[in-house]
Amino acid sequence: MILRPAPASVVTLGTATVLSIACAGTPQPPEAVPEPVPPAPTPVSLAEIPRAELKPLLALAPRLRWTPSIPDEGRFVVLSVEPAAAGLPIFEVSASASGRPLELIRLPGGAYLTLVAAPLGAPEVPVDVEILFINGTRLNQRLSLRVTSRDFPASRLRVAPRYTRPDSATLERIAREREMIHAMRETLTPLPLWDGSFELPLRGPTTSPYGQRRLFNDELRSRHTGLDIDGHTGDPVRAANSGRVALSADLFYNGQAVFIDHGIGLYTGYFHLSKRAVVAGEWVEKGQIIGRVGATGRVTGPHLHWHLYLQGFSLDPRALLDPDFEAISRQLTPASPLTVEP
Ligand SMILES: [Zn+2]
Repeated sequence: MILRPAPASVVTLGTATVLSIACAGTPQPPEAVPEPVPPAPTPVSLAEIPRAELKPLLALAPRLRWTPSIPDEGRFVVLSVEPAAAGLPIFEVSASASGRPLELIRLPGGAYLTLVAAPLGAPEVPVDVEILFINGTRLNQRLSLRVTSRDFPASRLRVAPRYTRPDSATLERIAREREMIHAMRETLTPLPLWDGSFELPLRGPTTSPYGQRRLFNDELRSRHTGLDIDGHTGDPVRAANSGRVALSADLFYNGQAVFIDHGIGLYTGYFHLSKRAVVAGEWVEKGQIIGRVGATGRVTGPHLHWHLYLQGFSLDPRALLDPDFEAISRQLTPASPLTVEP
């Protein structure tokens, strides 16, 4: 027997929009549920729903929670979808944030978790969650996460003129490399590949924080979208966590650079290396040496630039070291992360 969602109605409740509240057919095992066909919604105003019918609709809705409740710009939140005790069993949850798809991880207790980027300069982040229940009922909810803006320091830097006035051949190279990194960071590996807490890739003082406003050679304005850690040429640089090397290349601005895919849209980057010790496609363990500190690319001296991408946005890598995230990180990556949904 094939299950199909029933004809839909739309109910608007504050920021939450509830779609297709009607059950259809007899519950079937998950594998019997086909690729659902979205029903054409018929708008119905809240006033038209009798109170007695409204109550079961609300009891069905899973709890959406996120922490921190108001993130700083350049950080991320952990979003959870928890089934209501009286609600129907959830078959599948899908979601997007800032219009980009999210990968949700199902935990043993039935809740779903994911990370949502709060990009630089965004006062709020729109999140859309769609829940498909086991009987074919769908429920859509829209959230708007508030974001706190931060004050960032400013600095003036001197670099070789070719980094502020690249010639036309270099501009072509920059465009090609930008496209390559863009394609990489938009690739969504559906499972977390990392293992527990993240670690600093190099021990040393921070020489330049994330978010710094920069003026290169008094003419080029830019933002620093990573974290600079002081080091000497040749110092070992270690993978902040396990994952797969997504890219290992010599790039114009980033110099010798390594990017690691940690899964669910989370990537870390290690720039300005003197040597790269890994190649694309290779699996790396947390703490493994992936290269050596150097001064390649647009730099003023040897250091490591550590980068974090989430959902394609450059975020503050320090967010990975936050103690609150460490606890959640261990939950997201139990001993066997390759659990398949029942
Ligand atoms: Zn940097």
